[in-house]
Amino acid sequence: MKYISTRNKNYSCTAAEAIRDGLANDGGLFVPESIPTLSKADFEKLCEMSYEERAAFVLSKFLEEYSYDELLGYTKNAYGRFYGEDPCPLVNVDENLYVLELWHGPTCAFKDMALTMLPHLLVGARKKTGESSKTLILVATSGDTGKAALEGFRDVEGVDIIVFYPSQGVSDMQKLQMRTQLGNNVYVCAIEGNFDDAQSAVKTIFNDDAIKAKLLAKNYKLSSANSINWGRLAPQIAYYISAYCDLLNFEEIEFGDKINFCVPSGNFGNILAGYYAYKMGLPVNKFVCASNSNKVLTDFFKTGTYDRNREFFKTMSPSMDILISSNLERLLFDISGHNDELTKDRMEKLKKEGKYTISKEELAKIQEIFDAGFTTEEETKAAIFSENDFDGYVMDTHTAVAMSTYDEYQSRTEDEHPVVVVSTASAYKFPSDVLEAITGDKVKDAFKATEMLNEETGLEIPEPLKGLKDREVRFSDIIDKNDVAKAVLDYIDRK
Ligand SMILES: *Cc1c(COP(=O)(O)O)cnc(C)c1O
Repeated sequence: MKYISTRNKNYSCTAAEAIRDGLANDGGLFVPESIPTLSKADFEKLCEMSYEERAAFVLSKFLEEYSYDELLGYTKNAYGRFYGEDPCPLVNVDENLYVLELWHGPTCAFKDMALTMLPHLLVGARKKTGESSKTLILVATSGDTGKAALEGFRDVEGVDIIVFYPSQGVSDMQKLQMRTQLGNNVYVCAIEGNFDDAQSAVKTIFNDDAIKAKLLAKNYKLSSANSINWGRLAPQIAYYISAYCDLLNFEEIEFGDKINFCVPSGNFGNILAGYYAYKMGLPVNKFVCASNSNKVLTDFFKTGTYDRNREFFKTMSPSMDILISSNLERLLFDISGHNDELTKDRMEKLKKEGKYTISKEELAKIQEIFDAGFTTEEETKAAIFSENDFDGYVMDTHTAVAMSTYDEYQSRTEDEHPVVVVSTASAYKFPSDVLEAITGDKVKDAFKATEMLNEETGLEIPEPLKGLKDREVRFSDIIDKNDVAKAVLDYIDRK
């Protein structure tokens, strides 16, 4: 199977090359030329499998140069690092309402589902393509990607990783997780600005031939661990399919019954993986795209105009404080019938004018399978409170955005399909906000809030977050957003 760039479909490469390079040379994103499909017999097989086997099976359909056994080795290693029996348990919270918990990994956020896999896929890709230079991974993070990527790539042979995060845009817990990162091939640096500033700065480096030449002189080639890398998206497709198999095994549904997914979205990577699962043949009625007050995606799905020229809000769900959802480019490419020129045009418009509009036909196609909504800060807190109060289920702020958005969707549409709400972080990653929502106590100190939340709800504190308080801070640099390239070159010079 070939991979092509969303901005030039004549530019094609293998899966391994797409994973190794992260981003196409023309600035486009890699997508598979066609989507493999799953038969009923495949689903029957999948239902009998463990999560590790399901993930390897789904990945093997997309990554032809990797054998099933090779991929199974990767998934066993990656998901073996998760705590608990099932890496992504599907929890029944209420009638027809399920929560897919994707945060049982080493950093307690859903990014672990892909970022524990990406290092294996990348090291495999380097071998398969005979790559002799080293790989430098650059990451812009809104909080969770950074830590998950650092943890995944730490001390991986032939790879270095630099993470940039917005100095004011991440939670205390997220910041501490990154600043205390171990490993001899890692560097972490704060940027004065928001996530979009960090992401733009990193993207600029990917398109800067002068910097790339300087890095190459030191035997480094760039790659990305952000969800623009296909190696990030592909492992995420598996859990949508796995959740469906779980519902079949629970005898909650019969094969062919359609279900809904509601996904708290920012960069549009998580929900897009669901869309690919749907294209593989997963019976889905609707994907509900949930946003916080930065509701650029909600507006897009309702009107067909994507417009980032708006006020940026800092919310209690910081991993979704994003105005440029990079992965939407892949959906646009698909919906336009693989129109690379049009996709390129729209992305250039987005860069220059901050907005673009799709056609009525395209919008209608999108609305057949996507719905969208957003949740205010007050509604987010109210959802955390009532879910704990009525169902005894404790959610983090991002999951609460999805839960509240789904409520609104359901009262608007009276849609009765079973729904899987995708839960993206442990409540203990945002303990102050979750505690305040439940008890009204305002406790700024994250560790104190953690203790109190534990006492109040009895919810177990995840293994990886215990002991964080006593770790040594290794990285405390803060730089201007225009100095990102310099920081990268300085790091390489220090090596
Ligand atoms: C990254 C993240 C999201 C948003 O996911 P996207 O793939 O960027 O849409 C939501 N919740 C949490 C906790 C996250 O870390």
